[in-house]
This record gives sequence, structure tokens and C-alpha cells, in this order.
Amino acid sequence: MPDEIRDRLARLHERIARAAERARRRAEDITLIAVSKTFDASIVQKAVDAGARDLGENRVQEAAAKAPQVSGAGLRWHLIGHLQSNKARVAVQTFDVIHTVESVELARRLDRIAGEEGRRPTVLVQVALGHEATKSGADENDLPAIVETLDAAAHLDFQGLMTLPPFFDDPEQARGYFRRLREMLENLNRSRAPERRLTELSMGMSHDFEVAIEEGATLVRVGTAVFGARRKH
Ligand SMILES: *Cc1c(COP(=O)(O)O)cnc(C)c1O
Repeated sequence: MPDEIRDRLARLHERIARAAERARRRAEDITLIAVSKTFDASIVQKAVDAGARDLGENRVQEAAAKAPQVSGAGLRWHLIGHLQSNKARVAVQTFDVIHTVESVELARRLDRIAGEEGRRPTVLVQVALGHEATKSGADENDLPAIVETLDAAAHLDFQGLMTLPPFFDDPEQARGYFRRLREMLENLNRSRAPERRLTELSMGMSHDFEVAIEEGATLVRVGTAVFGARRKH
């Protein structure tokens, strides 16, 4: 029991390395984000003590309460859930990476607030590829305007795209969504100068991160496979 999280992290790093090898990629180019939502700070601390550096949360208030109780060198907190505009300031204060920019308005607000707070978070645009009403994320047609806004933002470091495909029992069925996101990043990069290339693809969860890595994921968001089953939020 005591080192369960440590064992799970070790196994995950092995699986990440094997998936990277299959795709002829370097394992160092893939970051495991331990998604700690719903778990108490004491449990998150165990993961940090076992070497986790990147922590993912989907609720701003929950993370703002938890982050000060977790200590470790070089920790990066990632917001992976929907961001309401009235939580933007707390999000900027709490998170190093915001994966869920989905509108021009939110991009502008984050830039303004980051300037006021003296912060410069990394940001990704969440793209809705599933076209389901319940899923958040930017419509593909809105992407150019959001990208233009982020490129002009003085206080945001825009680095790539994120997606959350519909849930499939068979992870192979998510492959097309992951491939599509990679193609969108490649398309954006065609018109960007080399030094402004976008490099990050946030995609893949506990049940499908290996497929995501085969399709180019650089940030995999893994909760259950690190911390065990969650109670409902
Ligand atoms: C909860 C969550 C995850 C992690 O899910 P697991 O299946 O537990 O790995 C990944 N991404 C997002 C956006 C989430 O909300």
C-alpha cells in the first residue's frame, strides 16, 4: 500500500517509453501530468514525493486550495478543465499551464489579468473535435481568431493544442481524433516562423494515452492510473 503510487508511476513511465519507441519518439519529449482532481493534498504529496512534477486539476477553486498544501521543487500545476471567465484571475494565480483556452474573449481576459498579476502562464487552445453539445472547447472554425489573439498576447506563452475526445471503450477509436489534432498543429505551423513553432499536444488519458503518444502527444493527462479510482466529483 505505502508505495502504490510510486509503483504506478514507475509502470506508467515504462509504458510511456514503450509507446514512444513504437512511434520512434523520445520518451523525454512526453510529460506525464498526474491528474489529482478529487484527491486530498496529502495524497498528491505522495505522488510528488514519488517524483511527479506536473499536476493536473479541473477545478480552479479546488486547485487553489490544494496547491499551497503541496510542496516540491519545480512543480507545475495544469488547469485541464473548463475555465469560467469569473475564475480567470484565480486561475492565473494558481496555474502554470492553462490547457483550456477556448475563445478570443477568454484569451484577451487571461492576457490582461496575467499582465496585472505579473505572471506569464503557458496556454493551449482546447479544440472540440467531437462536436457533441456537452463537450467544451473551441470550434475548429474559431481557431484562427483565437490563435491570432494569443500570438498578440504579451503575457501568455502560447504553445499548442489540447483535446478531449468522446469516451470509447476501445482506445483505437480515439486515434482519429488524436491524429486530427496533430494535423491541426502541423497546419498552424506551416505559416509560422521556425522560432515560433507550436510544440505541445495535450491529449490522452489513463485508458488511451499510448495511442495518443503514437499520434504525437507531448502532454498526457493521467488520473486513475496514478491515483486509483475517483469518487464522483
Ligand atoms: C479527469 C481528466 C483526465 C484524467 O482522466 P483519467 O481517465 O482518470 O486518466 C484527463 N483529462 C481531463 C480533461 C480530465 O478532466
